[in-house]
Amino acid sequence: MSPEVPEGPGRVVLVTGGSRGIGAACVERFAARGDRVAYTSRSGPAGGSGPPAEGPWHLACDQSRPEAVTAALDLIEKEWGPVEVLVANAGLTRDGLLMRMSEEAWSDVIETNLTGVYRLVKRVVGPMMRARKGRVILVSSVSGLAGQAGQANYAAAKAGLVGFARSMARELSSRSILVNVVAPGTVDTDMLGALNEAQMAELVDRVPLGRVARPEEIAGVVAFLASDDASYITGAVLPVDGGLAMGH
Ligand code: NAP
Repeated sequence: MSPEVPEGPGRVVLVTGGSRGIGAACVERFAARGDRVAYTSRSGPAGGSGPPAEGPWHLACDQSRPEAVTAALDLIEKEWGPVEVLVANAGLTRDGLLMRMSEEAWSDVIETNLTGVYRLVKRVVGPMMRARKGRVILVSSVSGLAGQAGQANYAAAKAGLVGFARSMARELSSRSILVNVVAPGTVDTDMLGALNEAQMAELVDRVPLGRVARPEEIAGVVAFLASDDASYITGAVLPVDGGLAMGH
């Protein structure tokens, strides 16, 4: 039994949170190799009108809402068929020290970054199991491995993805569905927008490579995990962090 997803052109790929940052770099990367790429964001257009004649397809889907996930996946399947590669990338932060972290800030982050991923994966693996192939790549973070002051909610969700992915890797391996995690360090996207110059300098100072990552550097690793070259990798957590979380 081969665990490979044939790497022919035209795989149906879903990238969540593909409207900017790391997700947008993933969309570009998969589209460049001829995959049919659907991507979501909360602010995307309602998908009712179907995919564009060519190029990636942007759909509105707030993954913190179960019915939105069901609707988006139903539509993609109707238009293009089952998702063969899922990149669960969408995520958000609501940082704050624990003593000041509201229930709402906690649950917003858990709902999008962890429960939303559970929903997406649960929805796509049915058809993958029937097809006996599939790739699921979850975008976690070094914060989930090493912890980060001010990010208890975010780190808990991102660490949760690791346990979730490894459980899925075990459950789904007999159907040749490979589930892996990418754990970026500090990446130059809007997510860093809240940091001031001094905080940025301090962050960069902790990175052995001495710089932040470009979103394309994360997308390249995601593309690798979706490729034939990664056919014997499942349940792995791949740090892409310039050495930041070495040892975790
Ligand atoms: P970003 O630039 O803020 O983009 C986040 C994307 O997720 C956007 O497309 C956003 O679109 C979407 N999104 C947010 N909440 C959503 C929801 N509930 N449902 C659907 N889409 C949603 O962030 P990024 O830096 O590219 O981060 C991408 C992933 O990498 C995240 O999971 C993040 O935690 C992780 N990461 C980032 C870094 C970093 O340094 N940047 C480091 C480690 C890990 P809308 O706002 O329109 O919904």
